[in-house]
Amino acid sequence: MLYLSTRGHPDRKHFCDILLEGLAPDGGLYLPERYPQIDDAQLTQLRKAYHEQGYAELAFQILQLFIDDIPAADLHALCAKTYTAEVFGTGEIVPLRHLEDGLWLEALSNGPTLAFKDMAMQLLGNLFEYELARRGETLNILGATSGDTGSAAEYAMKGKQGVRVFMTSPHGRMSPFQQAQMFSLQDENIHNIAIEGVFDDCQDIVKAVSNDLDFKRQYKIGTVNSINWARLLAQVVYYFAGYVQATETNAERVSFTVPSGNFGNVCAGHVARSMGLPIDKLVVATNENDVLDEFFRTGVYRVRSSADTHETSSPSMDISKASNFERFVFDLLGRDAAQTRALFGDALSKQGRFDLGQDPRFADAAARYGFESGMSTHADRLATIRDTFQRHGVTIDTHTADGVKVAREHRGDGTVPMIVLETALPIKFAETIQEALGHSPERPAKFDGIEDLPKRVQVMPADVQQVKAYIVQNCK
Ligand SMILES: *Cc1c(COP(=O)(O)O)cnc(C)c1O
Repeated sequence: MLYLSTRGHPDRKHFCDILLEGLAPDGGLYLPERYPQIDDAQLTQLRKAYHEQGYAELAFQILQLFIDDIPAADLHALCAKTYTAEVFGTGEIVPLRHLEDGLWLEALSNGPTLAFKDMAMQLLGNLFEYELARRGETLNILGATSGDTGSAAEYAMKGKQGVRVFMTSPHGRMSPFQQAQMFSLQDENIHNIAIEGVFDDCQDIVKAVSNDLDFKRQYKIGTVNSINWARLLAQVVYYFAGYVQATETNAERVSFTVPSGNFGNVCAGHVARSMGLPIDKLVVATNENDVLDEFFRTGVYRVRSSADTHETSSPSMDISKASNFERFVFDLLGRDAAQTRALFGDALSKQGRFDLGQDPRFADAAARYGFESGMSTHADRLATIRDTFQRHGVTIDTHTADGVKVAREHRGDGTVPMIVLETALPIKFAETIQEALGHSPERPAKFDGIEDLPKRVQVMPADVQQVKAYIVQNCK
């Protein structure tokens, strides 16, 4: 299995080469040359693997189709080490829970940081450690976070050989729970840098450091952002796990509704569907930052300015552009790399938008790829959290609420099960739950008193030189 760039670079690469890389050299995103196809017998085999041997075995069997440069026994061991009941709370790893007529919740957020990003990041941590050891290399991960990504990365990389994490975050702007989660880590290879500024300042610092190519090379700077193919691949597995839990035969189909920001989660659903998993609809749910909903309704993809990007109560979906979206558009255009380059390279940088509304390939996109979309506002979120609690006694987080709201509008006549991906636990967004329900969400026992633990964090002005100096000093 070889990987190509969505912008047409001639190189073809193996999985482990792109594992440690971000963008392709031409600015494109990596995708497999073709999606492996699952036939009926294989799907039956995967169904058995999940039910009889568990999620780790399912993960191994799917990953193996995409990875030909890690020996099977090693890949098997990496999956077994990653997807354990100890780390993810249950033996099912991603249990499916019935909510109401035709609607199910797939729990993806029982990992260490209580958000679905753990599903991929925990595997990434083990893959990085394995591959760096094999190459005799080290890596310093530099990132910017406003919450979920940074903590998922830190919990995945803590204590790993060959990896250090330098995570910048806007000082005093994350929720107390999120700060406590990250800053209470005492592992020597984890460095929290609280920047006196906003999230954009943190991102600018990461960009500035990464653009200093000498520094980047000398200090082996890397990233773990959502365009990383390995993260996307790890996410493909739970679409299969949701499907085999919701159905008894391969003749049945299911639909998924996915709370979306950077289009990473739902893009994994697109890959699963392209492999032949019987998915009917993939419903993209956005918050007020409706870049993706606008595209699926009109064919217009319009990047928002930062002034035009709303701060919402589902903050992990507050995006100005959807960084994984190029992967889907490449497929939509019949894998025309020149046109993908023209749209994402030229049109976006010059006009900040492109319009496929008149393109016949957009017109039948819903039929061919199953995509539908909808959006949800703060008022919708509150109403959905309240209603779901009152009718079912279930508390859902704000992002999942965006999903449930949109799923209810798209479930059709209820003959095809609609699975909503639950992307975080409510305790991470306690303020909005309090606003909706008048009481705080339940806190898992292992997080009792987390805010009182000693904190390991370095506060710094928004100054690239100081961040660089800190990295140099801590790379010895
Ligand atoms: C990251 C995140 C999302 C958005 O996922 P994408 O892959 O960016 O679409 C949704 N909900 C939560 C809780 C998240 O952390």
